[in-house]
Amino acid sequence: MTYVGVDVGGTKVLAVRIDAAGAVEATATRPMPGLAAGPDEVEAAVALAARDVYGDTEPRALGVSAAGLVDGAGERFLFGAHLPWRDAPVRRTLAERTGLPVVLDNDANCAAHAELVSGAARGVGSALLITIGTGIGGAVVLGGRVVRGAHGLAGEFGHMQVVPNGLACECGLRGCWEQYCSGRALERVTRVALGRHLDGPEVTALARAGNEVALHSFASVGTWLGVGAAGLVSAFDPQLVIVGGGVSAVGDLLLGPARHALAGALQGTAYRAVPDLVPALLGPEAGAIGAALLARDGRS
Ligand SMILES: [Zn+2]
Repeated sequence: MTYVGVDVGGTKVLAVRIDAAGAVEATATRPMPGLAAGPDEVEAAVALAARDVYGDTEPRALGVSAAGLVDGAGERFLFGAHLPWRDAPVRRTLAERTGLPVVLDNDANCAAHAELVSGAARGVGSALLITIGTGIGGAVVLGGRVVRGAHGLAGEFGHMQVVPNGLACECGLRGCWEQYCSGRALERVTRVALGRHLDGPEVTALARAGNEVALHSFASVGTWLGVGAAGLVSAFDPQLVIVGGGVSAVGDLLLGPARHALAGALQGTAYRAVPDLVPALLGPEAGAIGAALLARDGRS
C-alpha cells in the first residue's frame, strides 16, 4: 500500500512515494512551469511528477503541499506569490486528473505534519514550525495536531509586522518579519556590508569558514528569528520551536543568536521554561513527505 505526496514550490515540483509505514520509497522532481504558465500547466506538472514515483504500485491517495494560502476545507488554493493558482479548486481538479483521492494543504502545514509523525515534533504536544527559505513559512501544532485556524490561514508568520513603516514586502505590506529573517534578508545584509551580491549558499560557505561579515549576517537574521519567535512563544507557549528551510542548514550559526534573542525578549525567563529552538529533521522533502502522510492519515 503506497501514498504519493507532491510539494509544489516556486521553482520545482517534488514528488515522493511512501509505504504504509511512512518510509520514502521513491522521489522525483520536475521544473515548475513558472508564473507565466496557466493553472492547467501547473496541474499537469503535479500529475506528471506524481506519476514519476508510482513505480509498479497503485497509490491509494495523493497529498499536495502548496506554497501559499489554502482554504480551511482543503479544497481551494487561494493565493501564493510564487504560484499561478488564484482561488483555484485544486483538490477537485487534481482528483479528476489523477483519478486518486486528493488531500491539499499549505506546505508548512504539511511539513509540520511530517515533523509530528517522524521528525523533531514526534511525541511533542505543542510546537511551532518556522521555515526560513526565500521567505518565512510557519505552522502551529497544539494538542498533537496542526492547527489551521478559522479560515485555514493560521501560521502565516512571515507577514507579521515587526517594523512599522519598515522594508517593503512582496505581499504589499511593509515591515514584515520575513524582510528581516529570510534568505533574502541574509543576502541584503551581506550586500550592504560587502558592497557586492552573494547568494545564500555563498554566504553560508563563508560563515562556515569563519568569515566575519557572513557570521554577522547570520547573527542579524538569527537575532530577528529569536525576536519574532519570542512573540510567537508568548502567544502559544509551545514545548519546542522547530526551525527548517534552506537558511537553517547552517545550524547553530543561526540558532545560537536566535536562542539568545529569544531568551532576551521573553518575560519572566527566571521563572518559566524557555522552549528550545531546534532544527527540523526532515529537510527539503518535508513538505512532500507530509503531504503523502496527510494522504494516508487525512487532514485532522
Ligand atoms: Zn509581507
